[in-house]
Amino acid sequence: MDGIPPALDENELVRRLVSIGWRGSRAVRLGPGDDAAFLRGGLVISTDMAVEGVHFRFDWISPEEAGFRAGAAAVSDLAAMGAVPEALLVSLAVHGDPSVAVELQRGVRAAGDRVGVAIIGGDVSRSPGPAVVDVVAVGRARTVVTRGGGEVGQGVWVSGSLGGAAAAVTAWSAGTEPDPRARKRFAAPPDRVPLGLALSTAGLACAMIDISDGLVADARRVAGASGVRIRVDTGAVPVDPGAGDLNLALEGGEDYELMFTAPPGAGSRIRALGQEMAVVLTRIGRVEEGKGVVLEDDRGRHSAPGRGGYDHFAGGTP
Ligand SMILES: [Mg+2]
Repeated sequence: MDGIPPALDENELVRRLVSIGWRGSRAVRLGPGDDAAFLRGGLVISTDMAVEGVHFRFDWISPEEAGFRAGAAAVSDLAAMGAVPEALLVSLAVHGDPSVAVELQRGVRAAGDRVGVAIIGGDVSRSPGPAVVDVVAVGRARTVVTRGGGEVGQGVWVSGSLGGAAAAVTAWSAGTEPDPRARKRFAAPPDRVPLGLALSTAGLACAMIDISDGLVADARRVAGASGVRIRVDTGAVPVDPGAGDLNLALEGGEDYELMFTAPPGAGSRIRALGQEMAVVLTRIGRVEEGKGVVLEDDRGRHSAPGRGGYDHFAGGTP
């Protein structure tokens, strides 16, 4: 992080980096700013980096689990576009023991196996510091679901349950062992590719994102991209049984569930789809006029959430 002014938060840094790298191109249908880019011809591409000491620690999970987690997180961005994975590329940097690279690669491969794709290339280097796993996920779609499709009157939905991964990190950071369910949520993010594809194909997801930085932070991204406000009924948010804490479900990240907005009146179709796919789908709020995210509790009390989500440049531990 040398040379990054401390006042520059992660969002602002990303804005600066995008402004340096991006210019419109006829090959590109959707550029930076969503879960993945979308090229003419149907390719969907995303990259996701995991850094030891920032995203994971080897005294928390094994190298193979860290690789699996990185691979699953990369694939999750394809799921959030409604795309089908086609291949992965993996770049690894490890300190000292090269067998760590082998274990990391095995883990990424297992994440690829789960969605039926191979690792088609990559790179490996020695690192003088932490281990790094960077996974490029390549997929395909006829059309994609962006973060920008939210419109007033739509419902807001989430898959699975939230807060488990953050509960595991909280326990490890406090020097204790996490609840096994929370540990599993951190080490083995779910495969939401079939769900993302089904929602996209059925026209049930108007805007969609995977929850990597926390429900509130990622809902704010959808609200911003769509030019709307998202109202979250906090009593409806499905808290992971391994977390048991609403705040972790709202603010904790890395659950890699899908949040999407759906047309009014689509509730019964969405619930039926969830049953068919054995994924719990919960309506947690609605899209309305305005901007940002508003939290509303069971008694109708409102609160403006804090910034929410993990900022890699704000200091502290993950
Ligand atoms: Mg994402």
